[in-house]
Amino acid sequence: MRCRKCGESAALELRRHNAAFCVPHFTEFFRKQVREAIHHYRMFTPDETVMVAVSGGKDSLALWDVLIEEGYPTVGLYLDLGIFDYSRESREKCEAFAAARRQRLLIERVDAAIGAPIPEVQKATRRPTCSACGLSKRYLMNRAALTHGFVVVATGHNLDDEAATLFGSVMHWQTDALSRQSPALASTHPKLVRRVKPLYRLSELETAAFAFLRGIDYIVEECPFAAGATSLAHKEALNRLEAASPGVKHNFLFGFLEKARPAFERGQDVQLTECASCGQVTTGEICAFCKLADQVKRRSTPLTRSSGDPSQ
Ligand code: SF4
Ligand SMILES: [Zn+2]
Ligand SMILES: [Zn+2]
Repeated sequence: MRCRKCGESAALELRRHNAAFCVPHFTEFFRKQVREAIHHYRMFTPDETVMVAVSGGKDSLALWDVLIEEGYPTVGLYLDLGIFDYSRESREKCEAFAAARRQRLLIERVDAAIGAPIPEVQKATRRPTCSACGLSKRYLMNRAALTHGFVVVATGHNLDDEAATLFGSVMHWQTDALSRQSPALASTHPKLVRRVKPLYRLSELETAAFAFLRGIDYIVEECPFAAGATSLAHKEALNRLEAASPGVKHNFLFGFLEKARPAFERGQDVQLTECASCGQVTTGEICAFCKLADQVKRRSTPLTRSSGDPSQ
C-alpha cells in the first residue's frame, strides 16, 4: 500500500476515498478537509474567536488541535455533566490539553444551571437521559458564548455523527430536525450564536487516527449512557452498510445536504422570542431548558439532597 501523494509506504487506507496516505500526508489531508468545511460554509473568519465545545473525546480535541494549528483564535468550553468518573476524567483531559497548548478553557457545571447533575435529571423528570443532556448542552453552549461575547460555537460532530442523526430523523420523518441538519447554522436572533461542525467531512475512524497520530490524550471510554442511545444503533446500521459499500455514509449525508435539504428549509420563518424566565431564545413563552430545570426543582429535591453531585 503506497501513499497517494508521495508513493512512500502508506500508514492508513481510506476505502471511501479509494486512497492511502503516509502519516504526514494523512494529517495534511485531514486539515484540508477541515479547511474545506470552514470555507464552504463560511463558518468563521480568522478574526473571530471560536468557542470550541470540548468533551475530552477524540473528535472535539482533534478539532481544537486543528483550529489552533491553523491559527484561529480559540477558547475551549467544557460542560461538566456530573456523570460520575466519566465527567471527572474527561474534564481532566480537557484541562491537560488546554494547559499544554496555553489555551483558555471555560468550565460550566450543568448541576449549577439545572439544579442536579445529568443522571439525577433523568430520575427527576423521567425524560430520557440523552434527551435532557442534549437539550442542556445546546442551551449552555449558547448561553456561555453570549455571556463571554463569542459569536460562534464549534462542535466536534463528525461524518458518522451527522449521518446517524440524519438517519434517525429520516426514520421518523422529523421534518423540523431535517431543516436544521446542517454543518453550519446561522444566527437567526441576536441571542442565538452561530453553530458550526468543521469535522463533518471526516469519519470517526479518521478523527481517531488523527488524534492518535497527533499524540492527543483523549478519553477513550464512552459516556455510560451512550450504550442505550438510539444514535448508536443507527451508527451500527450505517457501519454495516459502509462495510459492504464504502462511501455510502458520505453519499447519504452529502446527497442530503446538496439535494434534499433545501426542500426542508422552512423552519427559518419560525418566530423566535426571548424566554420570560431566563431571556434566552425560544419559540414559546418559557424555553425548554427552564421547563426542565423547573421539573427538576419540583421533583428532585429529596434525590439530589441525598446523593449530591457524583462527579465530585
Ligand atoms: S451519551 Fe447521552 S448522556 Fe452521555 S454525554 Fe452523550 S447525550 Fe449526554
Ligand atoms: Zn505521503
Ligand atoms: Zn429559559
